[in-house]
Amino acid sequence: MTAFTVHDPRRLPQSHSRARLYHHESGLRTLLLPEPGSRVTAVLQIGVGSHDEPETRPGLAHLLEHVLFTGSERYPGVHHFARRIQGWNGHYNASTLDDTTAFFFTVDAEGLAPCLAHLIDMLSRPLLTEESVARERRILDAEFRTRLADPRLHRQALLARLARPSHPLARFTAGNAHSLSAPLASLTGEVRAFHACWFRAGNMTLVLQGALPDNVDGVLAETLSRLPSGPIPSRPPLPTAFPSDIQQQDWLWRAPRSDTSCTLLFPLPEDERVWPWLRHWLREPGHHGALGGLRATGMASTITVTGQRRSRNQGLNQGLNQGECLIELDAPGRGQEAAALLEHWLSRMAAYVPSRWPSTARLATPDPEGFPAPPDAPLARLCYLARRVAGEPETDTDTLLAPPAPPDDHTWHNTLRGLSDTGAMVIDHDNGRDFTRFTPWTGTPYRAIPRQRPAATDPFQTLLAPSATATAAPPSLKTLTRVPVDTEDTLRLGWRWPGDQTIAVERLGLRWRLLLEHAPFTGPKVRVHQSGAKLILDLAADDTAIRTTLATLFAPMDAPWERLTEHRHRIWCRQRDAAAPAHRLLQVLRDRLDGVTRENQGLLSSPTSLYCAYPRTWPETRLATGLSPITARFFPDTATDTTRATAIPTGQQAVPCAYPDHARLLYLPAPHRHVLDRLCWRLLQRHLAAPFYQQLRLRQQLGYWVDCRYQEEADGRCGLLLLVQSPDHGQRVLQAALSGFLENAGALLTAASLDDWQRTIRSLRAEVEREHSASGYPFEQRWNQAFYQRPGEADAELPLLDRLTAKNWRDEVLERYALARPFTLYSIAG
Ligand SMILES: [Zn+2]
Repeated sequence: MTAFTVHDPRRLPQSHSRARLYHHESGLRTLLLPEPGSRVTAVLQIGVGSHDEPETRPGLAHLLEHVLFTGSERYPGVHHFARRIQGWNGHYNASTLDDTTAFFFTVDAEGLAPCLAHLIDMLSRPLLTEESVARERRILDAEFRTRLADPRLHRQALLARLARPSHPLARFTAGNAHSLSAPLASLTGEVRAFHACWFRAGNMTLVLQGALPDNVDGVLAETLSRLPSGPIPSRPPLPTAFPSDIQQQDWLWRAPRSDTSCTLLFPLPEDERVWPWLRHWLREPGHHGALGGLRATGMASTITVTGQRRSRNQGLNQGLNQGECLIELDAPGRGQEAAALLEHWLSRMAAYVPSRWPSTARLATPDPEGFPAPPDAPLARLCYLARRVAGEPETDTDTLLAPPAPPDDHTWHNTLRGLSDTGAMVIDHDNGRDFTRFTPWTGTPYRAIPRQRPAATDPFQTLLAPSATATAAPPSLKTLTRVPVDTEDTLRLGWRWPGDQTIAVERLGLRWRLLLEHAPFTGPKVRVHQSGAKLILDLAADDTAIRTTLATLFAPMDAPWERLTEHRHRIWCRQRDAAAPAHRLLQVLRDRLDGVTRENQGLLSSPTSLYCAYPRTWPETRLATGLSPITARFFPDTATDTTRATAIPTGQQAVPCAYPDHARLLYLPAPHRHVLDRLCWRLLQRHLAAPFYQQLRLRQQLGYWVDCRYQEEADGRCGLLLLVQSPDHGQRVLQAALSGFLENAGALLTAASLDDWQRTIRSLRAEVEREHSASGYPFEQRWNQAFYQRPGEADAELPLLDRLTAKNWRDEVLERYALARPFTLYSIAG
């Protein structure tokens, strides 16, 4: 039996591999994207979402997504899937949107067949028991209550309120205890009926990317034939999202204080060729781009652009190719001003037609990852492809994977003119009390305001190039620590300050990032990394690049850039202070481990030390002439290194949080900074992660944020992190749960069979091997040894894993576990 017909295998120009598009006779479509490596990512998308729920049951699609993970015919265990994915060093997730539901996982290549078989069984023959429905309904409600502190939920609720009731945007997608409050038996019936109706092969698309096994066709034929076939209900045509009277006003809402954005909404351009380029120019930080202009005014420093295209019932009605373009700026309270600027920019850009665009390197690869999908992640690109495969049945791989061609001048001009004339719908903040209208479900206060556009000066007229004229100063290399490395093309500079300088170092890191993004010479090699009071700068190791980059970064600052840095820093502080408790605890832990103190708001002093990693082939004189003049001028009195090791904290610490949920974090550091300890701790995490999740999330139902992680510092210290955040359980309950788990963990480790240990050791070995073979690994090792004074023993990892027996490992882990002293952080309201 041939389950597949090869639809269109063609050679891909970039990856030199063969992308293949299959059409299963059941209707399912599969896109295979082979890539070298050792991992595989799978995205399975089903063409059903919250818009397809019965009117009376908001949240049903989201509930089904949850319940599907709780057991199926072949794999009835509640946490089987998590375990299986973890066994292949993987991770997984799922999402429910208004028109699609998607499941993703990434695993070692050999794990593809078993994990895919498991996922298909979950989706085609789920148990969907009343017990699971009851439990997941509670979890969903907890998610909802936690998300009430998340401004995005409120913005979504406001958009839903403003949209036409029959449009997908109008749905309450999250669901909560109230929207799902039917008697359990009938709710379970609804979940089952919804599943049976939509989860059919003809409504699914599978995208696989990575090191596909040779027998992938056989695996797919075998696995996918288990999916139920049958017709899918047809959907009504879509109206436009917003009635015109709604669209011609702007809107204010009272947002949680953590919100640091304003939102502008445009209709998505109808011509599909315009959108990726418009998005590119919106996000462009250089002087033609919208972001560049916003930064030049100091009004906003970040832009997030997402577009949701809905092409249902293509060709049959005017619903074709409509959608919304959502622009978020970090300029709370200045929405109308920002809209004026952007509308201005659109009309200028309308005249800057594609035939006049310079073909710079930046343009050639505008947005390599997600282009033209919204967020910049490889996964987003796969989801984007799945969407297109599902929506364009006649397409071939060349069309799918080709970079987007620019539109013609005429189309570009007309589309942008049209958008500028239509104008943006602004959704912004107001802290006043005179609200009389509230959204359903979230109770978000909102009101309309007349559309006004303050007269804006045109920031796009002036090019804000930083003055880049660095002058030579006497070189002094006395305090530079040199780290020659076996690399041809990278130069890395690293500075360390005492921990009380952190705030000033953060500001410097921010400023450098902003400057580098704006600079026309920026290449992919140039990168700024800041952690605590340490700052690292990567450069391409050629003379011109070094001179121009350093001259730009170390030049005296213009006032607008000064302002922009301050603006960005304030937003950053606000976001940090308002983060969800679990995030806050993680930040505080990081600070404690880094020896960071945040009291000092003063100016940046000289760093205690400067490190430089440069190609081994460079003569010493090259450093003196190329590097030293500029850096020495900026930090004239560089002293010798006085790094002190930070003491590992113990005991507990309360962390004030703006969010109402309770969070508790337990950090268990390994006793020593030794290779054996680090391997033991990674094994420990592998043994405890699944039971931790099972006990706290599934059995005790403390909250939906339950996490057990291994965390390693660059200096080689490591720890195990147990984290839980709960919307309804207080600290006493969380403390009891965490300490109860720790008490039983020893017994758990002892009870695991030597076969279990053998299996975890094998999977750890595979991961370590992958890390060691990653490109750039020797460079990073050498750098960490010098900069973080990390012991250079990484080479011992693999031999050690091979030398000790499973029993040795178990004893070593247990011995260290008994010595470890936890450090606890917990949130308090305030
Ligand atoms: Zn959820």
